[in-house]
Amino acid sequence: MEQKWLGIQQKLFQNSMQKKNDYRIYLSPPHQSGEELKYLKMALDSNWLAPGGPHVQQFESVLRKVTNSKYCVGLNSGTAAIHLALKTLGVGVGDYVICQTFSFVATSNPIAYLGAHPVFIDSETDTWNMDPALLEEAIVDLKKSNIFPKAILYTHIYGCPAKVNELMDISNRHQIPLVEDAAEALGAKINSKPVGQFGKVSILSFNGNKVVTSAGGGALLTNDLSICTRTLRLSSQSRSESEPFLHTEVGYNYRMSNLNASLGLAQLTCLNKWVEKKREIFKTYHDLNSKENLIGWTQDNSEMHSNRWLSAFLVKSEIKRHEIIKVLGDRKIEARRFWKPLHLLKIYKGQKSYISGVANDLFKKGICLPSGVGLKKEEQAEIIQIISTMDIN
Ligand SMILES: *Cc1c(COP(=O)(O)O)cnc(C)c1O
Repeated sequence: MEQKWLGIQQKLFQNSMQKKNDYRIYLSPPHQSGEELKYLKMALDSNWLAPGGPHVQQFESVLRKVTNSKYCVGLNSGTAAIHLALKTLGVGVGDYVICQTFSFVATSNPIAYLGAHPVFIDSETDTWNMDPALLEEAIVDLKKSNIFPKAILYTHIYGCPAKVNELMDISNRHQIPLVEDAAEALGAKINSKPVGQFGKVSILSFNGNKVVTSAGGGALLTNDLSICTRTLRLSSQSRSESEPFLHTEVGYNYRMSNLNASLGLAQLTCLNKWVEKKREIFKTYHDLNSKENLIGWTQDNSEMHSNRWLSAFLVKSEIKRHEIIKVLGDRKIEARRFWKPLHLLKIYKGQKSYISGVANDLFKKGICLPSGVGLKKEEQAEIIQIISTMDIN
């Protein structure tokens, strides 16, 4: 029995690591600033080895500054942050939540946690994020069947900002609040304004693969004091301030731990530098490969300033995508195909969706290339050399 369990455990671990030990160059491994030990030691010395605590408060305060948000609650994952964002906006059993289909599954899962229905919306081709025209169409169409969605949950995929002006306009006109999934996009900007402030509620992730990590963590951002207060309470088992063990609502154990926050604080000291590095990595792939094997990418201009969390490109065909990932893999270099559109996952089969085919096309032709902050010049040169000498047709 135990032997069998150990086997399952090992297999899951190996899958999740994508045979990690096999690679010489990873897709987006964690990078360290050099300040981590110092911050961790402060946390250890304070003996605050529990959820909440002084480093969590400090972490939240830095995040508020970095994103121009009034309030911030540190949580133990980005997924938990989405869950509480939807919960505090009143999403419950049987409700509908509009969601971007071209995203990671963590975006939509909290909709299911709440017993609500996702309505998936396809992407536009400039930023690969929620298509405002389709969103409008969906809302109008849903209204005809007396469905009034409780929230619009959009993503800045791979760090490229979505068309927020259009999304905000639709959100205002139809009175449906926006939830901004900025999990991949910390440090990205729209008209010089950092993402994380473009939702009634916004969320960040500090998972190990993100631009800044706390070895697992997340945050909820908002300018609404009542949402922030409710989030804080819900994340700590709905403890009441006046009487700690009087729980008036079913809560969660979602608060960020002080140790994770100290790690996150150390990492945040390098945020700008690391975003610049990621943008540089993207530009190098782009400049040396454009119009050859790498033929498509998301917009980047003064309006849409991507953090280029992952260097994401389109290639000519599905076969080409498969080939490039295979050839790089043979050289122990990790490249990865795009997220599978959520409406195509079996777990979401039969849910309402408004599909133009863009996300599916991205899924067929998209690849993410190694984008770690620690990627060396010669490593990237090797990757570019491999891709650019492959048969183009
Ligand atoms: C990583 C990610 C999340 C979830 O964050 P976790 O901290 O891993 O729970 C949510 N949405 C998107 C788009 C992500 O990439």
